[in-house]
Order: sequence, then structure tokens, then C-alpha cells
Amino acid sequence: MGKRLVVIGGVAGGASAAAKAKRENPELEVVVYEKSGWVSYGACGLPYVLSGEIPRLEKLVARTPEEFRRQGVEVRTHHEVVDVDPELRTLTVFDHQERRTFQDRYDYLVLATGARPSLPPIPGTEQEGVYTLRSMEDGESLLKALKGAQRAAILGAGYIGLEVAEAFRKRGLEVTLLELKDRPLPHWDQEVGNLLKEELERHGVEVWTRVEVKALRGQGRVEAVETSEGVVPADLVLVATGIKPNTLLAQAMGVALGPTGAIATDERMHTNLEGVYAAGDVAESFHQVLKRPYWLPLGDVANKHGRTAGAVIAGKEARFAGVVGTAIFKAFGLAVATTGLSQEAALREGFQARKVFIQSRDGAHYYPGSQPLWVELIYEEGTGKLLGGAVVAHGHGALRIDALAALLHQGGTVEDLLSLDLAYAPPYSPVWDPLLIAAQQVK
Ligand code: FAD
Ligand code: NAD
Repeated sequence: MGKRLVVIGGVAGGASAAAKAKRENPELEVVVYEKSGWVSYGACGLPYVLSGEIPRLEKLVARTPEEFRRQGVEVRTHHEVVDVDPELRTLTVFDHQERRTFQDRYDYLVLATGARPSLPPIPGTEQEGVYTLRSMEDGESLLKALKGAQRAAILGAGYIGLEVAEAFRKRGLEVTLLELKDRPLPHWDQEVGNLLKEELERHGVEVWTRVEVKALRGQGRVEAVETSEGVVPADLVLVATGIKPNTLLAQAMGVALGPTGAIATDERMHTNLEGVYAAGDVAESFHQVLKRPYWLPLGDVANKHGRTAGAVIAGKEARFAGVVGTAIFKAFGLAVATTGLSQEAALREGFQARKVFIQSRDGAHYYPGSQPLWVELIYEEGTGKLLGGAVVAHGHGALRIDALAALLHQGGTVEDLLSLDLAYAPPYSPVWDPLLIAAQQVK
């Protein structure tokens, strides 16, 4: 009889682990338990369904349960794993549709339980008209809510707040973005926050920074947000104030967490318990610039975690190489890409961090339609070691961040960047690539 792999959670980390394990070792019995009604989808596409650019939520699904079944992977939606006994290698599952509990067993287990929105302790969040955005179900609820809504308030100007502000404007809503810190995207440096603020305001978003939200007012249905700076009327409130890893089940079964509060794993995504692996937003990664565990809850990372765990369980040699913290998102006309550490973060970490920030263009100055593009480079004084960077552009030009990310993985320096042979033609770049122009500014 083949060995049995049970995967808990079926979105990015879990679906990747299940598919890879079955593909590499068809003898494995593979079962995925997912407590919601959806599996294997790109939550990253949710803002574009809300904006109307993608017509239906179903478009975000990569593989349906039926497609999994045809590949020999059993997927059980609406099934929640409520307990695991790692000694006996058994689990207790609650079927939400049949309302019954049953036992199952495993030889290998993948914990891919993801993350959940972290709500600030603000009175009034339990009212109608208040939403978070994490899952397809959240997307469904928000799509319905958008029909009658006119004025939205968004708490948090991080990734979700910024992407959804654009979506709500595209639906014709008035939007106020309320951020606790002094700028949008406060985990990155001021210059990028300034560019974002201008872009948001140019597109009619009211941006309130350094604002403390005191309460959500209403009589069971939200009517306004009470803040330290005044009252914002709103018939729809999105709370996008960050997320936390879903580690309760892992902790209850004795799986060790790392210093970030997510599950600690080795390069093979193996936890401290025999036969138990973790993948996706519930698990830590190793940060190649910081040289320590780091929590980077992103979709591409979740897929890589899952693929690694699946391959290892199938008996293949595989390792997850770690992260440098690369991300990109769209806010109206701007693409904002970052990698490694911001200067503020690098200074906090004790690096002698310096930065240059330049404005260039995404094509030759004479090429019709070329647009401004900005580069920030963060490096260590003395050694010139690259620590991080950002590229802000009006389109795909921001993807030159990937050259910088590759250098960070190698521990590269500003000299290494200057020696790179980068692509050039007038529609795509000035003759000196903006990354090279920034590197030339380093004294
Ligand atoms: P999750 O997506 O959280 O899935 C975990 C699943 O486990 C859930 O469906 C949950 O129901 C299930 N589960 C939990 N506990 C149990 C249990 N006990 N039993 C059974 N099932 C259980 N990342 C990017 O890299 N780029 C982007 O552009 C991007 N955009 C995003 C936009 C939005 C709006 C959101 C919400 C996220 C975005 N992300 C993006 C992040 C990305 O979606 C996540 O990193 C990814 O979904 C993580 O996948 P996961 O499988 O680890 O966790
Ligand atoms: P986030 O951590 O990106 O941003 C949260 C923001 O809320 C921060 O700016 C924080 O200062 C602010 N905040 C916290 N408490 C507040 C309060 N009480 N009042 C007002 N502001 C407050 O988290 P998110 O936007 O919820 O996104 C969750 C996760 O989803 C991200 O960490 C990321 O992993 C993922 N995501 C990624 C992308 C992408 O890569 N393009 C897009 C969307 C989501």
C-alpha cells in the first residue's frame, strides 16, 4: 500500500504541495482538507475582481477539486481539521456540510493553514458593512456590498489597502484611506511613500496619515469612522491592517514556531515533528540578507514552499533557497517594486546603511511616450554590499527590480551591479539603465 499524505489547507501552499507530491510519486495517496468552499486559487487577483477588470471570481481558480481528482488527489472542501495526534499520526476532521466528525490517518502531513486578517481592537468592527479581504468568500461578500455602496473607508495603507483603493475608485466610490503611520506603505522609505501619496490623490483618494481610528460608528450597520483627526462618513469599511499566521493547530500538536511567530522549518520545509512539513503563509522563510528566519507571507513564496515540501515527501532532493523580500504591486498608474531592506529597516538592523534615490525614465528621453521612473538603492557604507532597493515606474519597467533581487541572493555589491550587462533599446530604457545610473551615484 502507498503511503498517505494529508495536506491541511488547499490554497497556494497546500495545493502546490499536493500536486507536486502526486506528480513526483503517483504511488502516494494524497488528500487535501480545506475548510472553505474553494481550493487552488490566486487570492492575489481578488482586487482585480473587485475592480471589475476580471469578470468572475472563478477566473482566479487554478485547479478545481474535480481537476485534482482526475490527477489522483482527493480534495475535500468544507472539511476542517480540528485536531492532530502526532504520536499516532491521526487527525480529527469536521465535515461542515454533513455536520459530522471523523478520524483519518497520515504518514506525511503538510500544514498549509495560511494566515488571517489581524483586526485592531476598535469598537464597532462587528457591524454590517465592515469587511476584510483574504479569501474567495470575502471577495464574494465585498462584491455584493459594492453594489449599494457610495463611500468607502479603508483602514491601513499597506498592500491590500493600496490595491483595493484603486478597485473601489474604479467602481465609482469615494475612498478615504486611513493609515496609522506617517505615509502609505510605511514599511518602505519616505520617497516611495511620497510618490504613492501623490498618485492616490491624483486619482481622487483622500489619504489621511498619522491617524488613529477610535471607533466605527453605526447602529448595527456602519455609518462612519471616528478618528483622531475627525469623522469619515462611510457605508463600507475595509479593514486591511495586516495579517497573522494560523498557527493554533500547529501549536496544539507540538509543532515549534520560530522567532517570527510562524512555523519554523528547515530548507526542506520539515518542522520539528517527524513526517510533518509546513508551507505558505503559516511558515517562516530564511532571509538571505538578514541571515535569519523571516516571515514573508506572499503567494510566490507559498507556491515554492509547497512545491519543495511536495517534492521532498515524494522522495526527491529539493531545498527552498530562502527569500530576499521581493514584492511588487500596482497603485493606479504606478508599479511599486521593492527588494531586500529599506534604509530604515537596514539601519534598525544595525547596518551602516546609505541610500541613493534617483529619477530617470523607462525609455530614451526622445522615445515617444517614455515616462519617469525612480530607483532607490540601499547599500552598506564601506563594503558597498547591496542591502535593498526599490523601483517605481508607470508599468513593467518596475520589473528591473528582479536584477537587483538576483544580486541580493548572491550577496552582491554596488560594483557587481555596475558590471552587469543589462538590456537596452530606446522604447525600454535609456542607454544607461536606471539601475546603473543609481549605482553610479554611490560615492
Ligand atoms: P491561505 O491563502 O491563507 O490559505 C490557507 C487555507 O487553509 C485557507 O483557505 C483556510 O481556509 C485553510 N485552513 C486553515 N485552517 C484549516 C484547518 N484547520 N482545516 C482545513 N483548512 C484550513 N502575494 C503575492 O505574492 N503577490 C500579490 O500580488 C498578492 N496579492 C494579494 C492580494 C490579496 C487581496 C491577498 C489577500 C493576498 C495577496 N497575496 C499576494 C498573498 C497571497 O495570496 C498569500 O501569500 C497566499 O494566499 C498564501 O497561501 P497559503 O496557502 O499559505 O494560505
Ligand atoms: P500590510 O502589513 O501590508 O499593511 C497593513 C497597514 O495597516 C500598514 O501600513 C499599517 O501601518 C496599517 N495599520 C495597522 N494598524 C492600523 C490601524 N489601527 N489603523 C490604521 N492603519 C493601521 O497588510 P495588508 O495590507 O493587510 O496585507 C496583508 C498581506 O497580504 C501582506 O502582508 C502581503 O503579504 C499580502 N499582499 C501582498 C500583495 C502584493 O504582494 N502585491 C498585495 C496584497 C496583499
